[in-house]
Amino acid sequence: MSTIGIPRAFLYYRHYEMWKIFLTKLGYELTVSPETNKDILKAGLSLAIDESCLASKIFCGHVNWLINHHDVKSDYIFVPRISYLGDKLFTCTKFRTAPDLIRNIIKTNNYQLLTYNVDTKRGIDEEQAFLTLGEQLNQPAESVKSAYLLAKAKENELIDQHATQQNALLNLPTNKMKILIVGHDYNVFDAFVGKPIVDFLQKSDCICIYAEYLNPSETKAQAKQHSPTLRWDDSQRLFGACIQAKDKVDGIILVTAFPCGPDSMVNEMLFRKIKNIPIIQLICDEQEGTAGRETRLESFIDIIRFKKGVLNNV
Ligand code: SF4
Repeated sequence: MSTIGIPRAFLYYRHYEMWKIFLTKLGYELTVSPETNKDILKAGLSLAIDESCLASKIFCGHVNWLINHHDVKSDYIFVPRISYLGDKLFTCTKFRTAPDLIRNIIKTNNYQLLTYNVDTKRGIDEEQAFLTLGEQLNQPAESVKSAYLLAKAKENELIDQHATQQNALLNLPTNKMKILIVGHDYNVFDAFVGKPIVDFLQKSDCICIYAEYLNPSETKAQAKQHSPTLRWDDSQRLFGACIQAKDKVDGIILVTAFPCGPDSMVNEMLFRKIKNIPIIQLICDEQEGTAGRETRLESFIDIIRFKKGVLNNV
């Protein structure tokens, strides 16, 4: 049985359930790289060019782990390419070029990339991309289609579950502070980038609500009303989520990987749009110290407490 290595980075955070069901239904075993750790980060930093964003460096580190961690040898490394998604939406260039990036920076013959391409500009939607992937794997078309439909249904179910949970938190009557965490899932849920921020907030008795998990159809519709020309799919979701949730949370934290092009523009738009609640931007880079970030978070929480009348002097 062939094994497929999945980097725990980038699209893993959105599509892993779908990938898992699709690939295991077709008879493959999966190996997922571990949570981001110092070794993975260090490898990513040495492979990627300095100008890459932190998320991209971490992604390279995970792919490298799967290729060079010889205890867990994978027959394929799974690196999809998602470019255009229909409705005039596209992705950040990192997702359009991920397989090319890996082929160019890890130039050995001891791995084989497995990819699928979503590019609605060339008439390839997600279903078509998975059918083509099945052909590459020499799997019968009928099995591929049914595996995809099953996997997609599970992914849609998860999206609904997440949205229901986040809406319940948004509407929860409570004295605790509700903080909207705004960032790409691969940053917010990464063990090195966003998790320490969420852990700190939860220890400080805050309720974290994830913009990424609000209903994407609703958040995109919100975004279109305020910025009809915003075309990055992820940014549209995050921007719309802020507009949708801003009156139900006590503060907003923008979690950004340095130096993210789309976030630099969208965060600026958010600072201009949102005036009624405290909002901060935390730009995460490869530095491992957390003291500066924690000080900013403490001050942010104090400002909210002050606004809520539970802290007298800031
Ligand atoms: S959107 Fe920003 S953080 Fe995400 S891959 Fe692109 S540059 Fe990196």
